[in-house]
Amino acid sequence: MSEQGDPRGLITAQGAFAHVKQLTPLGPRVAGTPREKQAADYIAEQFASFGLPVVQQPVPDIVAWEGGEARLRILGPGDVEELTACPVLGSVPTPPEGIEAELVYGGRGMLADYEGLDLAGKVILHDPPRARTLDNRCGAGEPQRALGTAVERGAVGVIEYARLPGHILQVPCLAGPEGTPLPAVGTTYEGGLRLKELLQQWYATPAGIAAEAPLPVKVWMKVEARREAGEGTNVIATLKGGELPRERILLVAHHDNAFGPGACDNAASVAIVLEVARALAQGPPPRRTVQFLTVTGEEYGSVGSGYFVSELAEVIEDVKACIVLDIVGSGNKYYYITTSVFAGEVVENSSWLNQVLSEQAADLGYHLEPTGLPSGAHPARICLRRRPLPPGRRPHLLPLPLHLHELALPPHLPGRSGHH
Ligand SMILES: [Zn+2]
Repeated sequence: MSEQGDPRGLITAQGAFAHVKQLTPLGPRVAGTPREKQAADYIAEQFASFGLPVVQQPVPDIVAWEGGEARLRILGPGDVEELTACPVLGSVPTPPEGIEAELVYGGRGMLADYEGLDLAGKVILHDPPRARTLDNRCGAGEPQRALGTAVERGAVGVIEYARLPGHILQVPCLAGPEGTPLPAVGTTYEGGLRLKELLQQWYATPAGIAAEAPLPVKVWMKVEARREAGEGTNVIATLKGGELPRERILLVAHHDNAFGPGACDNAASVAIVLEVARALAQGPPPRRTVQFLTVTGEEYGSVGSGYFVSELAEVIEDVKACIVLDIVGSGNKYYYITTSVFAGEVVENSSWLNQVLSEQAADLGYHLEPTGLPSGAHPARICLRRRPLPPGRRPHLLPLPLHLHELALPPHLPGRSGHH
């Protein structure tokens, strides 16, 4: 392919960022809500403006959930402390005055973790997925949350906390598209550790003085939320193939998000799908049909993509490759996940796709390094690091900007003269 006809030269950081700027003010684009529908409408309009046929596919039975204020307070032992809090996606509300209860440690929230615990009238503290637990075990794979059991045994609320330090409120999802059966608040990693510290009585006591019995940890929590019946929307645009039109390649990003503006997770990935669609639509037809897909309900457990696949039924064999983008534009490296665990099963990419990716990455001036993760049960990832280009080589594509403030700088467009 000549340099002139290379669609990669048409993709710009500026173009991608324009979409991020349109999508983030709609956030949180919670699946099933009008905000998600507005995002789907915007994406569909963009695909149509590139001249691509586009379909909005309704995805039924996703509760339209809207979170309001969430509060979390430690009542004791010791001083009253207010922790940073957010409502967990899909949470039922508490009564307006909130609930006051004793805290119990529920590990990773698996059935085995609840064994021997008295949950009646209690609020349960869960560790985030893959966190080290109090006994320093590492969880294997995703936890199977057992909230149904917690409800049966009389628990009144749940606290989740972020896996990453730095006062980030990125808390795991607890439920499917039907929401959670218990009021659930999320707090930061630091808030979670403070609660665990109190549960373990790690606070200082004068030498030689021990409490006669463990001091109960009391918390107050409040969640405002509204829930009603709803449906989500998948957006599907199709660029027909020239030689093998029956065969398809999918480029996928979820457009829903759980909390906040969702720039990195996942407007930035949607923006890339749109930019690639715009570039490819300008050229001659690709060999195979390319479908650009932005999906709903990912935060509830890949609901939209699952629905898309179920509707494909007998033509699933025609899908020859599927590339999914998630959480791009954050941090200083990009992860290409070769092996992951989905629905309890280990999923591996085809070696063909891995090969193509490593060749393309090398062509763009990246090198791949396998990440050393401790357990075979965890996703194995390959990290892409940018390395300097050899003299005289011009990149086809800019490395994606790392942070939003960098995105806002005047971009050096690929394909322009004067760029080195
Ligand atoms: Zn995501």
